[in-house]
Amino acid sequence: MSDIPHVRDLAFQYEVIETVSPLLRRVVARNPSPFTAQGTGTYIVGRGQVAVIDPGPDLAEHVDALLNGLRGETITQILITHTHLDHSPAAAAVKRATGAITYGYGPHGGEVGLSGEEGADRAFVPNVALKTGDAVTGPAWTLRAVHTPGHASNHLCFALEEERVLFSGDHVMGWSTTVVSPPDGDMTAYMNSLALLLDRDDDAYLPTHGPAIPKPQRYVRALIGHRRQRSAGILRELAKGPRKIPEIVAAQYPSLDPRLRIAAGRSVLSHLLALIDSGEVASDGIADGNATFRLKA
Ligand SMILES: [Zn+2]
Repeated sequence: MSDIPHVRDLAFQYEVIETVSPLLRRVVARNPSPFTAQGTGTYIVGRGQVAVIDPGPDLAEHVDALLNGLRGETITQILITHTHLDHSPAAAAVKRATGAITYGYGPHGGEVGLSGEEGADRAFVPNVALKTGDAVTGPAWTLRAVHTPGHASNHLCFALEEERVLFSGDHVMGWSTTVVSPPDGDMTAYMNSLALLLDRDDDAYLPTHGPAIPKPQRYVRALIGHRRQRSAGILRELAKGPRKIPEIVAAQYPSLDPRLRIAAGRSVLSHLLALIDSGEVASDGIADGNATFRLKA
């Protein structure tokens, strides 16, 4: 989308732990897709006694790369940004191998949206539930949780205080806009969670997929503007008459990758549900993917 200053380049080798900063290392899982960029980036925080953020999908090669690459060190904590299948399932194998404690907001919150993406990890239950402001600490590092529902109702970002960076999970990504797929995805919550980030002064974001985002406040403002434009475009489309979601997708996403059509439909539904909440739109019958939507008289 041309109105968002996307950042897409990420130099890496699969299954090789690379150094990102004095406190941070990363290893990328081999699960590339239109929803995961080159794959899931698992972050390692600290040296010697370390935490792992988003151990990733249940891929033996990825778990082996992580465990072998950290031989001689101890993984004491596993932090999960949210319970999608590309983020949390490997926590089980890492925990089995190391005895590390798992942290997250809670188990998966609701029905997973039928977006053609990701899918829910219903097996993951954190040992310790975190809410906004809670800290997870180790030698020379402090990670503080920020609850950011919208992409998923149990989504957390983690601030690494010593380096002033925010692990933004799938809430804010540099390479792509975030999928917001109802009912667990919620556009009103997502917009509120974006606004929350504008009150912070992080130097950069590190999403789970794709490269770091410099000047993150400017980027978040662009994301908010992009969603407002999308919402305005949907209202303009409905001003022409009642519409079903595939008609809105065809009009609003003219050059869409066909693999993303279902996800775009879920995103349009999330906007329509927010517009129903704000009293601007009504649906004939139940407001789901099959409904007809119209401007409220
Ligand atoms: Zn996700």
